[in-house]
Amino acid sequence: MSFKTPVYLDNNATTPMDPRVLDEMLPYFLDKFGNAASRTHAFGWEAEEAVEIARENVASLIGASPKEIVFTSGATEANNLAIKGVFENNAIKGNHIITVNTEHKAVLDTCRHIENLGGLVTYLSVDNNGLVNPDELEEAITSETILISVMYANNETGVIQPIRRVSEIAKKHNVLFFCDATQAVGKVPIDVHNEGIDLMSFSGHKFYGPKGVGALFVKKNKTAANIIAQIDGGGHERNMRSGTLNVPGIVGFGKACELAGREMHSEIQRLTELRAYFEKELLLLENITINSVQALRLPHCTNISFKDIDGDKFIWEAGSQLAFSRSSACTSATMEPSYVLKAMGITEDIIHNSFRFSLGRLTTKEEVDYAVKVISKIVKEHRSERNIGHHQVV
Ligand code: PMP
Repeated sequence: MSFKTPVYLDNNATTPMDPRVLDEMLPYFLDKFGNAASRTHAFGWEAEEAVEIARENVASLIGASPKEIVFTSGATEANNLAIKGVFENNAIKGNHIITVNTEHKAVLDTCRHIENLGGLVTYLSVDNNGLVNPDELEEAITSETILISVMYANNETGVIQPIRRVSEIAKKHNVLFFCDATQAVGKVPIDVHNEGIDLMSFSGHKFYGPKGVGALFVKKNKTAANIIAQIDGGGHERNMRSGTLNVPGIVGFGKACELAGREMHSEIQRLTELRAYFEKELLLLENITINSVQALRLPHCTNISFKDIDGDKFIWEAGSQLAFSRSSACTSATMEPSYVLKAMGITEDIIHNSFRFSLGRLTTKEEVDYAVKVISKIVKEHRSERNIGHHQVV
């Protein structure tokens, strides 16, 4: 075997850092340790220059201008900044936010916080593929609506929301559109201006950059999205996020963006083919469902429900050979059945037997073959233990 086990198939949870990213970061831990806000000496200038180069790379990946990038500690913070920042800034205009019940907890819990502050939040439902209905979205808008928050792609299923339709509706009603694009940036091409996005969050560790660094895109033109800072201090990041900048992290984040921009198209093609192969092989098992398969999905991930298996035992048996996830990593600690799959109308017993496999830059065909072998063996064993024939349709 030319690969190590367990085989890593959980790239939606986090990705390994690209060694080229690490190389770029290393000097900024030791020799180039300056504070990017130090204006009076070369150490500070050197750090600031590195941050600004990274800012250009980050902006360029999403079609933004560098002045529209606010560095944060990751997407959770960026989501908080976007939602709370818009809410606070629009106290006079209104207090209503519209989001979707399959958003990440970093959006949903922030919306709960807004409700505790007296705001109103509408949680839209989704269809069987996990897609929001644009008509329902439009109907939910009131004169009090200040923000629409719809994620780009779901972390559990990879389903891609109709972003252009959402932004058209937001523009038509003069409401800001915030998009949590944490799973999509670096994986599929995104152009914030073209796609009509006003605010967008993303995170380095989801596309081969370091952990603990991310960004919020804040549109800056005639219809600028204005937000109130949630962390006050020295006025860093044009007063939108104070705190000494994480220079090595930002440098790595910038490099990850540069690499993604350059390599995304070939990666999309390779991973689309690899996932298609993985799914085709697993479909031979029969009685499995690929969730969100009728919709547009991120190219690298798949969420699969297996009938007639014992989900807990499956994890236990496959766990030493494969790293994958049941529900999302962030909620798996709670052992609650996935609220995302539940919102798509999947029953609890099936959710229990549903798993997310996410391939990545380092995943090889050999590893996928190994995963197919491991999964197929376990599924067949479970089914024969239950005396359910291979070809029996239940
Ligand atoms: N939003 C989505 C859709 C995510 O998948 C994640 C990561 N699980 C986050 C937000 C939070 O990102 P971070 O880890 O950078 O805080």
